[in-house]
Amino acid sequence: MNLGIILKGRTLGGLIAERTYTNLLLIVLMNIVVIVGVIIIYRNIRQEIKLAQIKSDFVSNVSHELRTPLALISMYSETLEMERVKTEEKKKEYYRVISQESNRLSRIVNSILSFSKIESGKRKYNFQPADLNELITQVYENYKYHLETKGFTFKISSNEQMPELELDREAITEAVINLVDNAAKYSKEDKFIELKTLYYNSKPAIEVVDKGIGISKEDQHKIFDKFFRVSTGLVHDTKGTGLGLTIVKHVIDSHNAKIELESNEGNGSTFRIIFNSTKNSA
Ligand code: ADP
Repeated sequence: MNLGIILKGRTLGGLIAERTYTNLLLIVLMNIVVIVGVIIIYRNIRQEIKLAQIKSDFVSNVSHELRTPLALISMYSETLEMERVKTEEKKKEYYRVISQESNRLSRIVNSILSFSKIESGKRKYNFQPADLNELITQVYENYKYHLETKGFTFKISSNEQMPELELDREAITEAVINLVDNAAKYSKEDKFIELKTLYYNSKPAIEVVDKGIGISKEDQHKIFDKFFRVSTGLVHDTKGTGLGLTIVKHVIDSHNAKIELESNEGNGSTFRIIFNSTKNSA
């Protein structure tokens, strides 16, 4: 007796071709999965390496930032203690340097603390009605002397029709100070800074304008990233932690506001904080 198997409507060749096709498809799919996996791992590793590099730059930047004021404070106070300074004029100058440098130290420490609170999600805001003109006037008064002794023309221009807004006054002040501080740090020969309140597209806004080194289009979207510092030209010699604008962005986001930048390399920058309240509605 002979027993035969006949495939219904299929030939053995057809079946083999179908299996081969399915197997090939599976192999191709598996290869794609492996390739995608390798790409993801490669990207993660690259990101980790970049982050490690950024962190190590940050530590070295912060150390530099802390070392300079500490060295100056210790040098000037020792000189004063040893009574080596003869004239009252010189003494006053030394006291001024000590006070300026200790302010700088506390600003650096405060910004690191601010950043660490933000990172751990512990930063709380206390919203209360505030007047933008009063706020920028206070910053102007506090920084006028300091900036003018550094050779800056520091201007203020207020729009008198600003509404009262619900703000964390301290946090917005900190953000404006960070912007003014940057305007001063990243200016070369043209030492000009202006603080403004205005309506921008019918919304209340604060502007900090400088005529400094400006920011290239390529870097503009990166400057709010944590630890980011532009690494060419003057910025290289200017100290910083790369945290100032990260803090500014967080404060602004928490106020449901927006920060815009208009800048051209070599032609100054305008940072604009736009609050989310239309004219006369607040
Ligand atoms: P830091 O000033 O400590 O480096 P920031 O977060 O405040 O950190 O700023 C990030 C970078 O953005 C700076 O390193 C600088 O390259 C650039 N930058 C910020 N403000 C200005 C400005 N007004 N003009 C030119 N460049 C700026």
